[in-house]
Amino acid sequence: MTLLNDICDGVTEENSTFSEDLVSLPRSDSSQTAASLQTWLADKLAEVLQTPAEDLDLDRDFADYGLDSVEAVNLSGELENFLGRRLSPTLLWDYPSISLLAEYLDGSASICAPTAILAPDLPDSIPEAYYRPELFPEYQKLQRQIQDVEALGNGNPFFVSHDRVVSNTTVVGGRTLINFATYNYVGMCGDAKVSQAAKEAIDRYGTSACASRLISGEKPIHRELELEIADFIGTEDCIIYVGGHATNVSTIGHLLGKDDLILYDALSHNSIMQGCFMSGASLVAFPHNNWQELEKILADRRHRYQKVLIAIEGVYSTDGDIPDLPKFVEIKQRHQALLMVDEAHSMGVLGASGSGISDYYGIDAKDVDLWMGTLSKSFASCGGYIAGCKALVEYLKYTSPGFVFSVGMSPPNAAATLAAIRVLKAEPERVAKVQARAKFFLKVAKEKGLNTGMSKDSPVIPIIVGDSLKSIQLSQNLFDRGINVPFMIYPSVPQNEARLRFFITCDHTEEQISETIAVLAEELARIAIA
Ligand code: PMP
Repeated sequence: MTLLNDICDGVTEENSTFSEDLVSLPRSDSSQTAASLQTWLADKLAEVLQTPAEDLDLDRDFADYGLDSVEAVNLSGELENFLGRRLSPTLLWDYPSISLLAEYLDGSASICAPTAILAPDLPDSIPEAYYRPELFPEYQKLQRQIQDVEALGNGNPFFVSHDRVVSNTTVVGGRTLINFATYNYVGMCGDAKVSQAAKEAIDRYGTSACASRLISGEKPIHRELELEIADFIGTEDCIIYVGGHATNVSTIGHLLGKDDLILYDALSHNSIMQGCFMSGASLVAFPHNNWQELEKILADRRHRYQKVLIAIEGVYSTDGDIPDLPKFVEIKQRHQALLMVDEAHSMGVLGASGSGISDYYGIDAKDVDLWMGTLSKSFASCGGYIAGCKALVEYLKYTSPGFVFSVGMSPPNAAATLAAIRVLKAEPERVAKVQARAKFFLKVAKEKGLNTGMSKDSPVIPIIVGDSLKSIQLSQNLFDRGINVPFMIYPSVPQNEARLRFFITCDHTEEQISETIAVLAEELARIAIA
């Protein structure tokens, strides 16, 4: 859960190659004046903030309005469409208010403008808030947010320590709770064969790869794992990275560049977004799962770019719904684009074998260019992978910064993943069980009239509450009654769509699920009255 995504998250002058690029672009669309641009920007911002445009202060920083990084990048995408020319995705950081941005786009501002850099009134001394972390405005904002949550009366709900393997139950402070806050979908974390494999790997190789694989960190188990993943999915090859998040950041950030376009689903995970920002490519979010809109954007813009990447997920991590993959494949083929599917929450749980969304739809895995997945969910470990054709994998292995300049995966982590895949292949009944339990949860929740949003056929099931503080309160009330389920609030999910998110595992029993829904319905009713 990211309570703390902030507007400038991950986007800086250094990692954006766009700033220079902007200067060489035509400065403005001659049909737009600063005044008409201000009106357009105010209308758009008002739409995002759900507030009347007249209430907006044209000189106020976008950050002060609480615009998050995804919304800011989306707004520059819409602006590109409006003006019909390419713009930096970091434009709203470079020109941080409606008036500055409109002035810049109109061409009346200085050419290498960022006002923070060229401000004529340089202060005599550097404010302390620029170099003392405890005075950083973002840190102070964080403190206020934590205090708001603590004011509910149950302390700080973050970093709660769990005392043993987390599966359908967990132990916190000596209490055993029913648990819905684990990625352990198919029970591999804590499985005896998986743990044993990790222990044997430690005995043989130690606990670390001790170097980048490219230089001298390679172990036989690394390659064995990559080939096992490629075989399970049905691709030519695979590369493993040490982190799931880092896999997206490094792969997307490295593979795409300033002449390229990335079209990503509006509900994409933060790791996809960070990779997008890092790439310097033009970015456009298409409405969630809306392949019709995607096709329109491609028809309109494909020819202006070199590579075009479409990024989607196999199961959406906040909503638990599944995209229409065959449609996305059709579209990517028609427009000669690359398709990437993040299978963090679909690997191990979709399809009869658990090999993911290609299995669910019965499509050829080779029709998707980049299969991304994490090893931290169904595979009981830590890390991520990209599976695809030989050329892609070879290129990433020799050049992707998050692989080349990072240590190889630790031997016990690699061994645990390898064992988990082999257990899953031998025991597909685990997949059938997690699917059946998720279906049961959804049915009982719907019978009770709970709002499960778009979740379907997946073990990720939200209960949408709406109000952020009520979601936090609900999560804490359930905790008091022996059920552990985390809340998700803005900016992880849209404003007014705060929720509890349930992860279902193959080890949950129908009794645990029925009891949970009954308690949940009671507590929801109490909160509605309060
Ligand atoms: N992609 C998605 C869709 C995710 O939900 C997550 C994290 N849960 C990641 C990538 C990053 O994976 P990891 O936690 O293994 O780093």
